[in-house]
Amino acid sequence: MEKIKMDTPLVEMNGDEMTRIIWEGIKEELIRPFVDLNTEYYDLGLKHRDETGDQVTIDAAEATKKYSVAVKCATITPNAQRMEEYDLKEMWKSPNGTIRAILDGTVFRKPIVVKGIEPYVKNWQKPITIARHAYGDVYKDVELIADEPGEAILSFKGESGQEKSMTIHNFDGPGVILGMHNLDESIESFARSCFKYALDMKEDLWFGTKDTISKQYDHRFKDIFEEIFIAEYQKDFDKVGIEYFYTLTDDIVARVMRSEGGMIWACKNYDGDVMSDMVASAFGSLAMMTSVLVSPKGYYEFEAAHGTVTRHYYRHLAGEETSTNAMATIFAWSGALRKRGELDGNRYLIAFANNLEKASIDTIEAGNMTKDLASLSSIKGQTLNTFDFLKTVRQQLESNLK
Ligand code: NAP
Ligand code: MG
Repeated sequence: MEKIKMDTPLVEMNGDEMTRIIWEGIKEELIRPFVDLNTEYYDLGLKHRDETGDQVTIDAAEATKKYSVAVKCATITPNAQRMEEYDLKEMWKSPNGTIRAILDGTVFRKPIVVKGIEPYVKNWQKPITIARHAYGDVYKDVELIADEPGEAILSFKGESGQEKSMTIHNFDGPGVILGMHNLDESIESFARSCFKYALDMKEDLWFGTKDTISKQYDHRFKDIFEEIFIAEYQKDFDKVGIEYFYTLTDDIVARVMRSEGGMIWACKNYDGDVMSDMVASAFGSLAMMTSVLVSPKGYYEFEAAHGTVTRHYYRHLAGEETSTNAMATIFAWSGALRKRGELDGNRYLIAFANNLEKASIDTIEAGNMTKDLASLSSIKGQTLNTFDFLKTVRQQLESNLK
């Protein structure tokens, strides 16, 4: 069989620990035998980030602006213990944070659904994608303790000299105070990323806030979404036959529970934090969550939602057998290859990405899976180690392609 050609490179960001081991395995077993892989390679492994003063992370994000599509392996976000373990020069920032700041994107998380692992909500037949706004609100708040009776005041001093203020509360006794903010620019980027991704996926977009209670703050989110939708996206939504739908957060929660899934659910920062964990666990396993960063300018960075699976890595280093689930990392590759194919008009690459996903799902549905899934699945089969799972997917892929 002739290998599929790629006209434009993908930005490839390698990472750390067990996912770095899986990364090589995926390329070796599932991609290189079929695709003449064309990537611009950046090593975001912690050692190399340290050697380059983290410049490599910035370069990788800049390259994503150039080529529009990246695939990223999970990476360590250093903490005090990692400083010692890797003898780091500095406690480098989270690569995901750095990349997100440069690309200005929104993260979309979507579970991979397979037969045998049924969602806890029995009417959910299709995956639910959570889009979490990643700036501001309670994550950038300031807080105060009122430790005696007194007046709390909210005030704004404009550069022009204007001043406005209002009473938050007159305290009779002790209490707590919180101030938070968001930026029109950030909300606009969030809205555009959501509309763009809904069009890509041809799925309805649902958005909810509490604008009946928060008449200025949450209402601003509602208005910005509405304005951008009508001015820039409504026509395309009509053409594709999908819907943008706004309602109150509590109403969305109730509707999501009754739905069959298959929508994108845009959430403010805190709602997204909470709801993404709820949706992920209701669908089964962290190892089955995919993640893509979509920028309002149309740059895409695909990855797994989970981390570097440190515990498995140390077992691997000790020569013990591991059974680490490669699904979300495989889907990061297939997602990136498909998007590359779409942007380049390369239908062979698109077909390959679809085939790779189908073969992976077929493998699990035939009863061949890693330990994390074997304990959840109603399909009885064999539990495979990390590498045998990849080999079995390859056999399935080869047999599907015949
Ligand atoms: P983690 O790597 O996601 O792993 C947590 C636990 O979840 C694992 O110990 C394992 O449970 C299970 N798990 C996760 N992925 C799995 C898979 N593919 N197959 C089977 N089991 C899986 O999170 P962590 O241990 O909190 O973090 C480890 C490192 O990853 C940290 O240095 C952190 O900074 C980094 N991290 C990176 C990203 C990213 O790059 N996007 C995201 C999160 C964390 P058992 O051990 O019980 O089998
Ligand atoms: Mg959380």
